[in-house]
Amino acid sequence: MTRPSVLFPLFADITSLPGVGPKVAPLLTRLAGPRVVDLLWHLPTALIDRRHAPQVAEAPPGRVATLTVRVDAHHPPAQPRHPYRVICSDTTGFISLIFFHGRAETWQRLLPIGSTRVVSGTVDIYGAERQMAHPDYIVDPANESGVPAVEQVYPLTAGLMPKTLMRIIGEALARTPALAEWQDPSLMRREGWPSWRDAIGAAHAPAADGDLQPLAPARARLAYDELLANQLALGLVRHHMQRSRGRSLRAQGRLADRALAQLPFRLTAAQEPALAEIRADMAGPNRMLRLLQGDVGSGKTVVAVLAMLDAVETGAQAALMAPTEILARQHMATLQPLAEAAGVTTALLTGRDKGRGRDAILEGLAAGTVGIVIGTHSLFQEAVAFHDLALAVIDEQHRFGVHQRLDLARKGRSVDVLVTTATPIPRTLMLTAYGDMDASRLTEKPPGRQRVDTRTLPLDRLEEVVAAVGRSIRSGGQVFWVCPLVTELEVLDVAAAEERFQHLSREFGPKVGLLHGRMRGPDRDAVMAAVAEGTVSVLVATTVIEVGVDVPAATVMVIEHAERFGLAQLHQLRGRIGRGDRPSTCLLLYQPPLSTTARARLAILRETDDGFRIAEEDLRLRGAGEMLGTRQSGLPEFRLADLDHHEALLATARDDAKLILDRDPDLVTGRGQALRTLLYLFERDAGIRYLRSG
Ligand code: ADP
Ligand code: MG
Repeated sequence: MTRPSVLFPLFADITSLPGVGPKVAPLLTRLAGPRVVDLLWHLPTALIDRRHAPQVAEAPPGRVATLTVRVDAHHPPAQPRHPYRVICSDTTGFISLIFFHGRAETWQRLLPIGSTRVVSGTVDIYGAERQMAHPDYIVDPANESGVPAVEQVYPLTAGLMPKTLMRIIGEALARTPALAEWQDPSLMRREGWPSWRDAIGAAHAPAADGDLQPLAPARARLAYDELLANQLALGLVRHHMQRSRGRSLRAQGRLADRALAQLPFRLTAAQEPALAEIRADMAGPNRMLRLLQGDVGSGKTVVAVLAMLDAVETGAQAALMAPTEILARQHMATLQPLAEAAGVTTALLTGRDKGRGRDAILEGLAAGTVGIVIGTHSLFQEAVAFHDLALAVIDEQHRFGVHQRLDLARKGRSVDVLVTTATPIPRTLMLTAYGDMDASRLTEKPPGRQRVDTRTLPLDRLEEVVAAVGRSIRSGGQVFWVCPLVTELEVLDVAAAEERFQHLSREFGPKVGLLHGRMRGPDRDAVMAAVAEGTVSVLVATTVIEVGVDVPAATVMVIEHAERFGLAQLHQLRGRIGRGDRPSTCLLLYQPPLSTTARARLAILRETDDGFRIAEEDLRLRGAGEMLGTRQSGLPEFRLADLDHHEALLATARDDAKLILDRDPDLVTGRGQALRTLLYLFERDAGIRYLRSG
């Protein structure tokens, strides 16, 4: 299946539009994107209302007015730098039209003395005089085309003139085909929505401020189209996975029981039901596609390991994929003793494994002698083949794309997929990222966890903090010291961390270690090993420790320039301490003065350590738009939908998608065909792929 030809004009390069040459094209690309369709999604954000047509004496300053005036006189500049002035009037008063550049002949031609002209632009009062600098329109009232009543304002980029952009968007609109309706007619009627093509036209031609509102019919329809495409694509993936016959992995839990016996604790009241749900999925006839969501330290890894042991018990293999090498190693540390107790062979495969060691792992996987493998994205590699992969656990899902999730599943037969995530994604966003996926939530942390005492301090009290760190390490504690996110540039983060490392080394000597993203793998391991052994008591780090370091003895976390971090990130960082049974402290150092938002963020952290509440607050403070905008989050980015306003539409789209796929799973009916076009329009390729193969 390929893109329907009716969409070809929209997916053509913008240079296919008349008047888009090598000068304008890069500007448009930067602003909206490289293709015609990108211009359609570039909607106006404001209006200029030119219907305000007062008499000259009544024209308020600072506002756009359309005035009908008589041209009285021309005053060429007396000195080179002065503007050219044209004096005009009506019966109520005078106004000067001011031109800082342009040619006298032009003004004389457009504004002949004695003529009546309609001029439109922003009126200013300068001293006692009304002025209009460079009117947007100068029109002969006899001329029919006149001044437009309202004009849309688009976001611009330097070097691009509003009129140029408007003209080009006009060309894009002229190429917009009518498309067969994919929306349910009764929903359209109920909401009063126009057709897609009319909606695009109307969204680009607002007549009043109300038309710019996110819930105006044209805009709401376009947003809904995008949300429906998103939900439909996710629904297709899910349908496909569940339809392709699953296998029943019926384990007795013998291996898992042996592992449990080895653990110094019992599963929590949240872990028990989560494991039971996973087991029921695995034993069931369909393929599992389940999300295991739980705050940092809530015990997801243990649950995943027990499920993997079940898979091995049935004679198959399991794989766990982590987003970073540090995290993969961390998981290995959790897995190792449990697998050993159960008599299962494990392997760790990362990008660092080369040569003979790597070959041996690959052979073990292919032969089936390795029961469980943990790795990074290197598990996707072509060369990695399994004897019989039955369960894939994907950790910290939000860092991987949908395809990757599925690529690992392809390495086996009817692979069950368990996705774990520590990022407490608010419900709304979860829906856009995973669709209506089954989810188990670990809402409770293992017992005995102490609440982290969180305090905020201005940076000029740094020396007090250093003293407190000294007290802590003398009493046997360990300290994480996180250095600021200076810029987007990793190099600068590293410089800041190195400086702090030197400072603290002068205080505490060799007990201080340094960890950052630019270090080579073996060096990082050495530092982490020293931390685990306790020879390093103070670990100075950039945000590389954000994911997954488990050091139970760590009781103090210092975060410099906490005001520069996002709420979710601060929460993740703080989650690195308070894992043991000793009371822990998190010191958030900030640079005053704090902005209102930064102050609110720090206050929330002091108040609560509930990841879900923090995520909701984060969403409230930042808005879904921005949260979705963070590229590396892996959450889908929307061009038209804005979850701050369209959350209710998302719920409708989810239900709608479900209904559609129940009735027409292959999208073959008339409406189904139209919906295929919708998927192409919004480039939901992952969903489309399943239409072809499904
Ligand atoms: P997550 O993956 O959710 O961040 P982990 O599975 O890594 O959490 O568990 C965090 C820590 O809590 C580990 O040290 C683990 O051994 C411990 N842990 C897990 N489950 C329990 C439990 N039921 N009781 C006590 N400690 C637990
Ligand atoms: Mg974990």
